[in-house]
Amino acid sequence: MKSFEVSERKLAESSRYLAGGVASSLRAAMKPTPLFVSSGAGSRVRDVDGNEYIDYLLAYGPLILGHAHPVLTAKVHEAMQQGYTYGLQHDGEIRLARRLTEMWPSADKVALSGSGTEAVMVALRLARAHTGKTKIVRFHGHFHGWSDAIFTSFPSPDMKLAETSGETDEVRPGTSGQSRSSLQEVILLPWNDPEALENVLRARHAEIAAVITEPVMCNNGCIAPKPGYFERMRELTAELGIVLIFDEVITGFRFGPGGAQERLGIVPDLTTMGKAMAGGIALSAVVGKLEIMNLIDRGTVNHLGTLNGNCIATAAALATIEELTLDDGAAFREMEQNAIRLADGLRILLRKHGLRGVVNRTGPVFHLMFIERDEVTTFEEFAERDAGMYAKFAELMLNEGVLVRPSGLWYLSSVHTEEDVTLTLASADRALSVLTA
Ligand code: PLP
Repeated sequence: MKSFEVSERKLAESSRYLAGGVASSLRAAMKPTPLFVSSGAGSRVRDVDGNEYIDYLLAYGPLILGHAHPVLTAKVHEAMQQGYTYGLQHDGEIRLARRLTEMWPSADKVALSGSGTEAVMVALRLARAHTGKTKIVRFHGHFHGWSDAIFTSFPSPDMKLAETSGETDEVRPGTSGQSRSSLQEVILLPWNDPEALENVLRARHAEIAAVITEPVMCNNGCIAPKPGYFERMRELTAELGIVLIFDEVITGFRFGPGGAQERLGIVPDLTTMGKAMAGGIALSAVVGKLEIMNLIDRGTVNHLGTLNGNCIATAAALATIEELTLDDGAAFREMEQNAIRLADGLRILLRKHGLRGVVNRTGPVFHLMFIERDEVTTFEEFAERDAGMYAKFAELMLNEGVLVRPSGLWYLSSVHTEEDVTLTLASADRALSVLTA
């Protein structure tokens, strides 16, 4: 058994100074204890107790090139020699924005921010300014960051639910202290249900500014869109004067150079991206159609941020994009191949150990669920999974030297190898033996 003694001690120390003991509430969920890290290299991360893990958490997504990638590190270091941020313009911003417009089907222009949450805030503001309407349609089981404007309950299975006792509204806040009035602008619908969408959009289009959706429901079950669903969504939103926003904060720079929208063949009006965009350095963006993005040019919409477009972030993003697109995007193909190997291997192991479960994979991400079903295609079905059993499995995997998110979503990086996959499946085999003993 691995020892986590130093991490446990550090959590006690950290809790004296850091609110919650961790820097983002989500991280408190890790069992047996939130890990304190000493270093990371490639696909491996090492904790302060000296334990090493193959890392499929990847900082909740950003580390698309793994830890401490030499090219990314060198490019950031090189950029830093000239200063970190100016609050003025520089060439790195132009090169990055131009590159994004080349890569992304929906990108005529770009606005840079610091986090996925901010990018979503900018996108919602642009949509409201463009349409002159205020309501936002969002879907059960999707997550779009934690701003008051859009954060609802059940945002993520590994986040502790807010105390909302007495709350009876359909759209429940994701946390205590959240503004209720902003959530009154949110219409929450089931995803993958074209009739529910059409009914609401036709009935209420005069007040609906935008529909925001993840292209794949990555955060809860890695559920793919049903064939024709997005085509219908695109037709309806275009017909009814509603802005379609794809939140590609997870899928962007992971599903291919043009994100999930390129694979799906759908061009939204606005797209938000973040996480993997700069390989682990804070950066996000909204990209979109000229007539909407030009609201920022005209000064109609304020888009602010002291550190927007800083030199470290732009250098990191340019290096990440360069690495990912080498050899005609070989990194994307390898990530997906390893995801297929892992997902297939885990399915075989579930059968071997006589366990009911589903591994939902789309592209290079997948979600493992212990559930009495053969498939999971909706958030309601996903809600039936045995989350406790998965958390126990994640803990057993940690003991095996494999770091996975406590909720079931696995990320691959460009530096995970076939050998990592083989080692991981051997670990999963042993972990499942213990789980079923
Ligand atoms: N949108 C999606 C789809 C996400 O998964 C997340 C974070 O997990 C966000 C937005 C918010 O991004 P950030 O955590 O960078 O604010």
